[in-house]
Amino acid sequence: MNNFSPNMLKTFKSCPIKYNFKYIKKISIPQKASTFEKGKKIHALANYYLRGDNIDKLEKALTSEEKQIWTNLKNNEYFSKSYVNSEYNISCKTGNYWIGGRLDALMKDEKFYYILDYKTGTIPKNPEYDFQTMVYLLSASKIYGSNLKFVYIDLKNNQNYIINFDENKQEEYQKAITEICTQIENAMLPEETEHFKACEFCEYKKICI
Ligand code: SF4
Repeated sequence: MNNFSPNMLKTFKSCPIKYNFKYIKKISIPQKASTFEKGKKIHALANYYLRGDNIDKLEKALTSEEKQIWTNLKNNEYFSKSYVNSEYNISCKTGNYWIGGRLDALMKDEKFYYILDYKTGTIPKNPEYDFQTMVYLLSASKIYGSNLKFVYIDLKNNQNYIINFDENKQEEYQKAITEICTQIENAMLPEETEHFKACEFCEYKKICI
């Protein structure tokens, strides 16, 4: 049985054909290294740092832009809370489906647990109902209870976007996730599709119908 990640749900929502290429046929298209390089580097650095590894050499190798982003993260109030885990795989069952993903970090203080998500690009347009928010909050709440917050750390603009776990929203989150998982399971892929704006930026456009 599939363990649905937020990326799988987002990809299906944006284009079922892309989902088919990526997760059913498992076709991977190489992308420009620069697109993800900065984000990957900062995520790796943050993980080593939180685990207590020596990162002196890695810090010296950062470009000035990366250094600024890294400084923003190191000085972030949520990143400075007590460490629980990082690059942390977490999952739970919702309806008939397993959902889960990898948290950038989980921190805590006397009152709350904080799911951290570092963004070197933009934060989601509707963060409360983003699949990542819903999947991570539901999964973490099963282990850590409801004193939980999701913190998107926008490293470019050096600001945080915080979502409190709300027990009243649990059902709504579960419904939204179960619906999309059911759609994925029952998906009938169209023979042909109209190409729309997202196609312009899609890595599969060269092989797409
Ligand atoms: S090119 Fe367009 S239709 Fe084809 S997979 Fe990408 S987004 Fe979907």
